[in-house]
Amino acid sequence: MNILVINAGSSSLKYQLLNPETGVLLAKGLCERIGIDGKFTYKPQIEGKQVLDAVDVAMPTHSEAIQAVLNALVDKDNGVIGSMKEIDAVGHRVVHGGEAFNKSVLITDEVMKALEDCIPLAPLHNPANITGINACTAVMGKDVPQVAVFDTAFHQTMPAKAYMYALPYEYYENDKVRRYGFHGTSHKYVSQRAAAMLGKKPEELKLISCHLGNGSSVTAVDGGKSVDTSMGFTPLAGLPMGTRAGDLDAGILQYLMNKYDMNIDTMLDILNKKSGVQGVSGVSSDFRDLENAHKDGNERAGLAVDMFNYGVKKLIGAYAAAMGGVDAIIFTAGVGENSASQRLDIASGLEFMGVKMDAEANNVRGKEAVISAADSKVKVLLIPTNEELMIAMDTASIVKG
Ligand code: AMP
Repeated sequence: MNILVINAGSSSLKYQLLNPETGVLLAKGLCERIGIDGKFTYKPQIEGKQVLDAVDVAMPTHSEAIQAVLNALVDKDNGVIGSMKEIDAVGHRVVHGGEAFNKSVLITDEVMKALEDCIPLAPLHNPANITGINACTAVMGKDVPQVAVFDTAFHQTMPAKAYMYALPYEYYENDKVRRYGFHGTSHKYVSQRAAAMLGKKPEELKLISCHLGNGSSVTAVDGGKSVDTSMGFTPLAGLPMGTRAGDLDAGILQYLMNKYDMNIDTMLDILNKKSGVQGVSGVSSDFRDLENAHKDGNERAGLAVDMFNYGVKKLIGAYAAAMGGVDAIIFTAGVGENSASQRLDIASGLEFMGVKMDAEANNVRGKEAVISAADSKVKVLLIPTNEELMIAMDTASIVKG
């Protein structure tokens, strides 16, 4: 079975063709500058096939981009499948499913209407996701099943006490203002892998999943279900991130907006694009740059990393308390998979709750590993995330019924 996974942005589109049963990736790539000057990248995973790296392909709309992807996949010389018939289904990443979607769904006309209804909740992302779906329908026809997989769906199991904001209740009832959480596909994937690594069923485990990358969130997963997560109504909440501020006192907004005569758009631009570890360090949003700058004596770079690690540590404590314990802590995404020093710093001081790292085992990157000591009561796991595989697996299971 082959599933084409699509992650459509406003002017870009990432794709992968993979087999969800074996996990084998056939090809992946990226369409960039859609509607501008079209750049097409194609990376077949079969030896001897030619890679295309940001070559010029006219892509005035997402439909031409999808057509370019299909052309490359079935190309006589460098394709990885014989014809389009070998694509069994398409799985789309959709950012926001609101309260309407608590799991992945087969896309129908009715679902498309419900997706449109979610646009106000993610005005920057959902329209592009919808465009990607429409482009696939236009190019591939209605016979190829398409499935929507939501970043928010995994978190729909949170209890009201975790997802409600302490605002007047009508903002929830009338305006759907609540915590939704994001990175759900990643948290779901790594928590399933954690259960497999530990030889347990997801229902038997209390897990804390730390997705630490340019965007970061931590999720409490009790019995296979998300029960709390650090991102909120939008992905601006929770930890300080590459350029996002994370949680802060809303009173600061009024204070700064008044003092500097800023409107809300300028303020939000600062909170989304000029804050986080970039804002604190003044150096970079990239954790590697911060580590290097700190080594060269830049204290603010060190402070930014400290603030981030401290934030993750506090969430681990909070979620262990929320679940009444924790069996395993998972590290994933760019920082979680690669930074041994940050993982050590985050886990240090958690010995009181049964976390004991193995510094040598922790000296690993980018592959599944147990990085806690053999006698650690709480296991600490490094699990590379694979959102595309999770999307393909969900898509396959829905298509198979
Ligand atoms: P992601 O958003 O998951 O792609 O993660 C991107 C982040 O991971 C960036 O801040 C990178 O600096 C960070 N990252 C990647 N490799 C390393 C590394 N070896 N050490 C620290 N951070 C890393």
